[in-house]
Amino acid sequence: MVSTNVHNPNDLSQPVVGRFAPSPSGRIHVGNLFSFMVAYIRAHQKGGSCVLRIEDLDPDRSKQCHIDQIFRDLDWFGFEWSGEAVYQSERTEAYQEAFDALDSMDLLYPCFCTRADLHAAQAPHPGEEFVYQGTCRHLSHDEQAEKARVRNPAYRICVTNDEIVIDDAFQGEHHYNLQGSSGDFIVRRCDKTFAYQLAVVVDDAYQQVNDVCRGIDLLSSAPRQRYLQELLGLPEVTYAHVPLFLDEEGRRLSKRNNDATLSYLIDSLGLTACQILGYIAYCSGMIDSWESVSLSELIQFASLDALTNTTSIVWKDPSSVK
Ligand SMILES: [Zn+2]
Repeated sequence: MVSTNVHNPNDLSQPVVGRFAPSPSGRIHVGNLFSFMVAYIRAHQKGGSCVLRIEDLDPDRSKQCHIDQIFRDLDWFGFEWSGEAVYQSERTEAYQEAFDALDSMDLLYPCFCTRADLHAAQAPHPGEEFVYQGTCRHLSHDEQAEKARVRNPAYRICVTNDEIVIDDAFQGEHHYNLQGSSGDFIVRRCDKTFAYQLAVVVDDAYQQVNDVCRGIDLLSSAPRQRYLQELLGLPEVTYAHVPLFLDEEGRRLSKRNNDATLSYLIDSLGLTACQILGYIAYCSGMIDSWESVSLSELIQFASLDALTNTTSIVWKDPSSVK
């Protein structure tokens, strides 16, 4: 069994380091803002701080204009972070080192499956994770060489049958078995971009993050990340997965939900930063009524207990609440 010895957030001998990790594929939305707020409040209520990481791993989806907008938005809401922002696009060497370390443990193998192959093998039901069936795990060297002539492989890591326990600060204890929950997962894509799971683990350790607060949609990534931390000898982190904002039909907020975009809240409704922070804090139960509050006031007064065992929050247009 993988160790469950997590960093104890009540242990004040170790400063709490949270993080904001936006992907510059668009402007941040209400869900991102909410997880940044909770990360910030959690860290600061324990006397710690946050770091910033721009998750621009994917060169096709990351745009400089979105990076600029992320900085403007974080400033406007009053977020502060320690040190310089880290850009994943500049961290390839560190990911390669981790990749080589895993490879030297004989845990990696090339996977030549196309998306169509994977879907033919298993069509996941909506909301279910895809579980890789290990198709390429036992290819011979000759078979690998043959397939490599026509297709660049992705690299997967072999997982074990061990139980991994994630004791989440908001969502409680979750038990996983990677063979059943994800199967062997990708650490480097066929276009040679390192996978999110590997990059995040390497970067959290590099930035000394010990408190990972993010949306509950990433809870199922936690056991894969814990597994990589263990193999790479990196410190474990505390996980705190916050509820997701859903629209009134129960769907995840997306681009179609214009009433949850910052441009609507700021430009159309004319709300101030403190009004927006207060509205999100009120919707999520961190404060009792909608008032205008700054981040430093939230650190003093907000209660994060309301987020415990909550998986979703319904987003309502603030103009219908006023
Ligand atoms: Zn494969």
